[in-house]
Amino acid sequence: MKCEICGKSPKTGNNVSHSNVKTKRTWKPNVQKLLVEYQGKIKRLAICTQCLKSGKVKRPQKVSE
Ligand SMILES: [Zn+2]
Repeated sequence: MKCEICGKSPKTGNNVSHSNVKTKRTWKPNVQKLLVEYQGKIKRLAICTQCLKSGKVKRPQKVSE
């Protein structure tokens, strides 16, 4: 899954064992589908946790009661 704010997406590379055998692996960004406030609108977006923590999007306030 790709982050809809910064465009971060999975990357590929090799797992390298102790005997130097290489096998393909992927690194996935920590992307969550969340209800967020972005550009003044409340939307359901796939965003990475780095964008969430850096304040690029806001979580809508929970209505208590
Ligand atoms: Zn992001």
